[in-house]
Amino acid sequence: MAAFRTQGRFTPGNGASAESNGRWSNTWTNWAGNVTSRPRSVETPSTPLALMRVLDRAIAQGETLRVVGAGHSFTPAAATNGVQISLDNFDQLESIVPIEGTNGEALVTVGAGIRLHVLNRVLAENGLAMPNLGDIDHQSIAGALGTGTHGTGAKLTGLAAQVRGMRILLASGDVVETSPTHNSQLFKAAQVSLGAIGIVLAVTMRCVPAFLLHARETPMALGQVLENLDGPGNFADSNDHFEFYWFPGTQGTLAKFNNRVEPGTKASTEDLNPAAALARSARFWVDDELLSNGLFQLTNSISARIPALTPPINVIASKALSAREYIAPSHEVFISPRRVRFVEMEYAIPREALKDTLQEFMTVANRKDLAVQFPIEVRFAAADDVWLSTAHERESAYIAVHQYQHSQYREYFEAAESIFRAVGGRPHWGKMHTLEHSDLDKLYPQLGEFTSLRSHYDPKGTFANFYTNQVFGKAN
Ligand SMILES: Cc1cc2nc3c(=O)[nH]c(=O)nc-3n(C[C@H](O)[C@H](O)[C@H](O)COP(=O)(O)OP(=O)(O)OC[C@H]3O[C@@H](n4cnc5c(N)ncnc54)[C@H](O)[C@@H]3O)c2cc1C
Repeated sequence: MAAFRTQGRFTPGNGASAESNGRWSNTWTNWAGNVTSRPRSVETPSTPLALMRVLDRAIAQGETLRVVGAGHSFTPAAATNGVQISLDNFDQLESIVPIEGTNGEALVTVGAGIRLHVLNRVLAENGLAMPNLGDIDHQSIAGALGTGTHGTGAKLTGLAAQVRGMRILLASGDVVETSPTHNSQLFKAAQVSLGAIGIVLAVTMRCVPAFLLHARETPMALGQVLENLDGPGNFADSNDHFEFYWFPGTQGTLAKFNNRVEPGTKASTEDLNPAAALARSARFWVDDELLSNGLFQLTNSISARIPALTPPINVIASKALSAREYIAPSHEVFISPRRVRFVEMEYAIPREALKDTLQEFMTVANRKDLAVQFPIEVRFAAADDVWLSTAHERESAYIAVHQYQHSQYREYFEAAESIFRAVGGRPHWGKMHTLEHSDLDKLYPQLGEFTSLRSHYDPKGTFANFYTNQVFGKAN
């Protein structure tokens, strides 16, 4: 199997880069700290005109350009040693247009650099919300779309399938409006594109009326979760948003059921289950506390140094999990803090393959020598028609594997990856994997069309980097 080349090229912490040319400026590092690059220059334009000047100058000097959002990808998606562009100043709400014939849905156009937490606030102020979200809100909207970011919900799609329009600056210097009906091929290519088609200036999203979620989180035996994956309870189909975390080396999971409430229900951040609230005083929840707290940081750094301590630590962590139940605005339920830094790989596999794949994968994750410290996250998504969506034309389940940022992860990720690949798994574009263009070509029926459009609109590879060359092939 190929090694994790992205790691080899963009080495943690030492500033090495695939595109070393001896004229580096400041070092840029992604959130996880596993990708480092040295952009030649960093530009933060405030207007499309200023951005066009940056593009003209870069092209004249034969430089490549790459937009960085929040730098939350684990792959070198945003890394460059050419011109790094931040669109943080493109963060305004442009318009809200009600969609006729719907029950309060609207098309919301925002600047591409807006962070999801700002977008969520702006939407809430206007009585709107995103239909589904992932588990953090630090990303820029264009960055989240660029890698196919998703949440969980067997009847719901990832964010890119909610896009209804994109304004794009092409390598030619033209700014084009795209939508499913206008420049539709370009639109389809740009929905998930790693920035390889052009620079996204603004995005129009389909948003829904703001809604509350009834959140129920409960420790549950692994056997019970597996039985109900497609069995009697069919947790994924009978809940709006279902996911679970499993602790390697244990029989413990934390299952999360989030469901829309009946109209008229009030929010209640008080725990709806007082007995659980009482029991909770010495316990914690996996998302809001375990994955974000100092204790977890400490246990991870201990097990990174002494891997043999990982299994007993996992047993204690899984036993200390607590139930809770509350009602809150959707974005507050979806989003959790992530203060403990980690590296991550996530594959989308055909949903029907989930149970068998998980069982095979569990024998790997349970291996004591791999010292897996982080719980495994399992989520769901409906099929969509976005060309490079990981759920393209198939109902999908996602298996995410993490390891503390200072720990050994390669052997674990490689073993897991070969299991996910065997069932036609597609890697998250923003999370670690070893696949190359020739592998991905077999997984995405539209990848050929995507790369032809890319060659047409960016013939000189102005928007390419090491990673886009790896996954889409060389641009020129
Ligand atoms: C703690 C954590 C939790 C996460 N949770 C989830 C989750 O729940 N679900 C999930 O699916 N993913 C998740 N991710 C992955 C994350 O959503 C993606 O990696 C996302 O792309 C990061 O957004 P960003 O703004 O940081 O983009 P960056 O990583 O900065 O960039 C991503 C890509 O988008 C391109 N890009 C950015 N802006 C533009 C633009 N204006 N025009 C053209 N191209 C552009 C970049 O060039 C790059 O190729 C998580 C990541 C972390 C670190």
